Amino acid sequence: MDAGCSGPNDRKSITATEAKRIILGRVQPLAGWERVAIRSALGRILADDVVAPCNVPAHDNSAMDGYAVRADDLQTDGEMALQVVGTALAGRGFSGLVGPGQAVRIMTGGVMPAGANTIVVQEVARRDGGTIVVPPGIRRGQNVRRAGEDLAEGAVALPRGKLIGPAELGLVASLGLAEVSVHRRLRVAFFSTGDELASIGRPLAPGEVYDSNRYTLYGALAKLGCDIVDMGVVPDQPEALETAFRNAAACADVVLTTGGVSVGEADFIRALMQRLGEVSFWKIDIKPGRPMAFGRIGDTWMFGLPGNPVAVLVTYYQFVVDALLKIAGLDPLPERPLTRVICSEAIRKLANRREFLRGRLFEDNGEWKVRPAGKQGSGILRSMSEANCFIVLDENQGDVAAGDAVHVQLFDGLV
Ligand code: AMP
Ligand code: MG
Repeated sequence: MDAGCSGPNDRKSITATEAKRIILGRVQPLAGWERVAIRSALGRILADDVVAPCNVPAHDNSAMDGYAVRADDLQTDGEMALQVVGTALAGRGFSGLVGPGQAVRIMTGGVMPAGANTIVVQEVARRDGGTIVVPPGIRRGQNVRRAGEDLAEGAVALPRGKLIGPAELGLVASLGLAEVSVHRRLRVAFFSTGDELASIGRPLAPGEVYDSNRYTLYGALAKLGCDIVDMGVVPDQPEALETAFRNAAACADVVLTTGGVSVGEADFIRALMQRLGEVSFWKIDIKPGRPMAFGRIGDTWMFGLPGNPVAVLVTYYQFVVDALLKIAGLDPLPERPLTRVICSEAIRKLANRREFLRGRLFEDNGEWKVRPAGKQGSGILRSMSEANCFIVLDENQGDVAAGDAVHVQLFDGLV
């Protein structure tokens, strides 16, 4: 088969911004959904709005321990004595009416007794037997939580597209709901390519390296909650690769491959993707990760990632993860803020490409700074493990001097 690299897509490389725009412009959310019990919804994405079937809180209630009183009874310029006629606890209310000159002892969460409209916190009320003395200056309605002030009945409590985290689980429970509708899990298949790759569990022959990319991708995809299809190592043979591509495309929503995507003699991935489907682009002006092919075979999206272990993670985080989240139904996509901090070391940088260095943010006399995390070779996975951020150097940036400000993107928040 012709594995050469000529063809309509054999153009110059594109910028990182353009690559991301093309990918996110093309991929669309999947339609499938399922009902799941509330706990199983953790980490899933809502397929439907969650509408509040009731007010939260259900009743006006006290935000503090204190006394429920009638605002009209209180003096604006002097103390006022009120008779304590009962108690309201959370879950056990006061059934009577609070009349003029009366107050009810109330605990946080206690339902506001009829007639009362204001809470005097216990620290400011002086108790004297069966009465309390209230100072002036109490605001009408203070420390009362209104029915529906958290969520009003009929309102959208959580919009479709929302990722369910701990707060969302609690919120769903506060509405009394036991199930929600979530998008079905994304099915992602992946395989490593390379004649030099050995699977773990046997000794290395001369020239071999252990296949680490499948484990890196397993970790990334498992964290994302995908259904994972690990297709193993495929040798650099066009027939074997074609079979792997066809099988992967037949069973998955998205296929990730690593290796074999540049222009070496054993690099067949791009030509195969082109022959079996279409390729949108395959070269991005970045380091590491310059060769990265994006396209589709039938309805299945294809990402041909580079082979170098660091380049795999850089391209995954910069281009793949948001695409997976969009296909999985997340809306809106997460913001990926860049923060500017002082870099404590000089960095050599070529113009006209975006570089993603592995960085370590550290505190220096109360100020947060960044330095490159160890050796930056794109095969040195340790740099990724020692880093806590990417140092992102844009296309128009040249060399960085020690003390210059640079952009960093925190790993925290990269799912
Ligand atoms: P390639 O993109 O296929 O030219 O591979 C680039 C470099 O990454 C080579 O040194 C490969 O040996 C290495 N490499 C490719 N795939 C893997 C893998 N799955 N695990 C570890 N190293 C890999
Ligand atoms: Mg290779």
